[in-house]
Amino acid sequence: MIPVWATELSFEVRPGQKFDARAWKYWKPVLLLLNEVAKKEKLKINWVRVHSHFGHKGDVPHAMGWWDHEIKAMFLCHFDKETMLHEVGHALSSGYHGDPWAKQAARLYLKYLKGKEQKEAMVQLARYLSGRRVYKSLYAEKAPKAPEIQSLWRDLNPT
Ligand SMILES: [Zn+2]
Ligand SMILES: [Zn+2]
Repeated sequence: MIPVWATELSFEVRPGQKFDARAWKYWKPVLLLLNEVAKKEKLKINWVRVHSHFGHKGDVPHAMGWWDHEIKAMFLCHFDKETMLHEVGHALSSGYHGDPWAKQAARLYLKYLKGKEQKEAMVQLARYLSGRRVYKSLYAEKAPKAPEIQSLWRDLNPT
């Protein structure tokens, strides 16, 4: 049920209810990077919940990801590295989307993402007031308007 690579990580991977096994390939690069990030950042993660919502119409009715400080668990719906690093930023800070979080998130994006993926993550960070401040201090210019995010699951069909 759970692929071997997902059993060899430093945290337990818990697929959500009705998880479609064809979604593992989308999660693999994100979870392998999370494993590396947890090690390098000395972050203790007990378990990570991952979702699948193939062919969903419209947006899924919950957050793209969240972090639970008490149980040290991550919930991921959106299978991109940016969302995962956004949540790691929460794990390494407090105060929700304030300055400490934005600084951590920016540092993680710069360290673990490259090129277009990194730039897009920084633009999304600037959706938050705290992120706009970080963006401006890094690039000495105002962030461009962030494009609307749609769920990656929207109209995605399993192959
Ligand atoms: Zn979900
Ligand atoms: Zn957040």
